[in-house]
Amino acid sequence: MTEWWHTKQWRLIQTNLREIDMLDIDAQRVVSDLQAFKANVLMLNAAGIIASYTTQLPFQFQSPFLQGDSLQDIVEACHAADIRVIARTDFSKVRRPIYEQHPDWAYRTASGEIVDYNGDIHVCINGPYQQGYMPLIMEELFNTVDFDGIFFNMGGYQTRDYSGNYHGICHCRHCQVAFAEMYGMALPAAEDVADPVFRTYLEFKRCTLTEHHDKIFRYITDRWPEMCIANHTDFRFGFIRQESNTAIDRPLPPWQYSASDNTKWAVGSFPEMVSSNTTVDFIDFPYRHVAVSPHQQSLRLAENLANGGAADYYLIGRLDNHEDRSGYDAVKDLFHYHAANEGTYVDMTSKAEVMLLKAGVNQNEYRGWFRTLVENHVFFDVVREDAALDVSWDRYTTVIVPGIDVMTDAMAERLDTFAEYGGTLIVTGQSGFRDENFTLREMPALQSLGIEDVLLVRDDMRSAYLKFEDKAGFARFDDTDLVYVDGPYVYAHYDEETEEHMQLIPPHNFGPPERCYYDLVVDHPGFVVHPYGAGWAIYVPWMPGTLFHRQGHVNTAWFCADLLEGIAGVAVAGGNLSPMVEATLAEKNDGSYQLLSLVNACGHFGNSFYAPVTMTDVVVEVPLSEQPSSVVGLRSEQALPHEWADGTLTVHVPLLALFEAIKITVSESTVIKSAGAQGAA
Ligand SMILES: [Zn+2]
Repeated sequence: MTEWWHTKQWRLIQTNLREIDMLDIDAQRVVSDLQAFKANVLMLNAAGIIASYTTQLPFQFQSPFLQGDSLQDIVEACHAADIRVIARTDFSKVRRPIYEQHPDWAYRTASGEIVDYNGDIHVCINGPYQQGYMPLIMEELFNTVDFDGIFFNMGGYQTRDYSGNYHGICHCRHCQVAFAEMYGMALPAAEDVADPVFRTYLEFKRCTLTEHHDKIFRYITDRWPEMCIANHTDFRFGFIRQESNTAIDRPLPPWQYSASDNTKWAVGSFPEMVSSNTTVDFIDFPYRHVAVSPHQQSLRLAENLANGGAADYYLIGRLDNHEDRSGYDAVKDLFHYHAANEGTYVDMTSKAEVMLLKAGVNQNEYRGWFRTLVENHVFFDVVREDAALDVSWDRYTTVIVPGIDVMTDAMAERLDTFAEYGGTLIVTGQSGFRDENFTLREMPALQSLGIEDVLLVRDDMRSAYLKFEDKAGFARFDDTDLVYVDGPYVYAHYDEETEEHMQLIPPHNFGPPERCYYDLVVDHPGFVVHPYGAGWAIYVPWMPGTLFHRQGHVNTAWFCADLLEGIAGVAVAGGNLSPMVEATLAEKNDGSYQLLSLVNACGHFGNSFYAPVTMTDVVVEVPLSEQPSSVVGLRSEQALPHEWADGTLTVHVPLLALFEAIKITVSESTVIKSAGAQGAA
């Protein structure tokens, strides 16, 4: 791949410029500030709501603050320093004077109101502005300034403003007409998946978004084939830009694997694209001028690198006038490390044999399994459900489906085929119970689970347990006889080939103490095992991931870990790694070395992020088919003590601060390939 974004390992800084930042911006200062970080990609504000260059277009608001160096000056200075520049655009709103000339471009609430946020009026994706005028702005921008890429802020259907106020789905004339033409009905009043009209609207959104993406993508690539485009995943081209951020009102707990998660799914689902997950400097939109902990920022960057992503930092304003510079040293440290070692990170592929499927539903179930995998040191990839049919599953022996209620027939068929050809499926909750439009199916879509009939999905399970009949495979439960259950439980009939494990204790009395005992144990399982073709499925008719993500009790973590190791036979990295250390393993595509990354997340304490405590005498074991010629810690810049015997490499890491990246060089590509099951093509 010869596009510019594949010829450099990028370190991006986004200076999200306020309009006043253009008053005295100095191109040479921009470059020297970026060089201090060793950044090699810059993203800054260019067009859309406000033109940060001189525009001739009557439908684009001219910034009145262009008294410093011009965007073209900045881009030229960056190019002279081998720094690429990406234009940040935002076509989701127009300034009030533009709206007054084109009131039909605006988003409208169900009652016909517009959203005017500080003089910016929300516009609709189906209106003439985004459909017709947006390409004209891009044309003028790229003919005026030599940008290398483009990012679209807040593209698609937006229902909230910057204060988080919810305004509902758009009811503008263009939406009404398009929806009526496609489906012959009026728009739904509200977002309610119980309403079949709303479920049709979801399809409407998918179709119109795909069409719009297609139009914009072709418009750009036809004219500027070297332009790196953000987030057009349908085309597997350009880069995926995401954020690891915080928000004041976001429900707890904090997601400490945010950067690993974002990077894993981008790399696992769209390996042709650059994964650029940014560490957002600020606390939330209302507090853009104060930074989160520097340790949170460096943890995010370490997670990005360990999972095959780029380094990316995003702040409000400019580097030279930012009022909270507390994150600079932490970000520089990681950026400088990456610059010194970037060659090692090129052309790598994950060696994970486990895939965790990701979808837009039941994020908590997904996150609970994500934690289980990380904290038990299973090497795993994440693949987004809507991309899973387009990537190879050949290296996976196990696929985890975490409560993915909504599933297409094609996806269900792919999962069943995977099991049929020898793979192991682990499936939880109501996965596949609904189709892609949220319509409840008569029977769950997955044949491999052994479900003959769903009797009931019961929500009032508080104070229920599961009791072991035997503890084979459950090594963590020597001193514990019960697993606690909360959230929905699926009562089902299974076919006769299905092995049912554990027994359900239905909700029981829990007060007063004299009454706290159960006297009923029923024949409904905690999990089932069903053979399917050459493989099998393990089905868990409840949601342990959700429970673990929210409550974090080891009772749930142990259940999930033993299910993986003791029942499914999933391999874990050996040694003495703490659950607070994330481990990843990747291999150079020519087989010449492997990279074992360790990220120490123990600085995540309650809801704060402190410097991680340095761990000592860390030992980690990974499979390796032959004696390596060298084992070197890239972070510590030291050869690491190691032993090799019987296909296992044992590495000793004397000191583990935030992270280590262990380069394991072998003389040729003779690394053990899994003898396990392989999915069908
Ligand atoms: Zn609309």
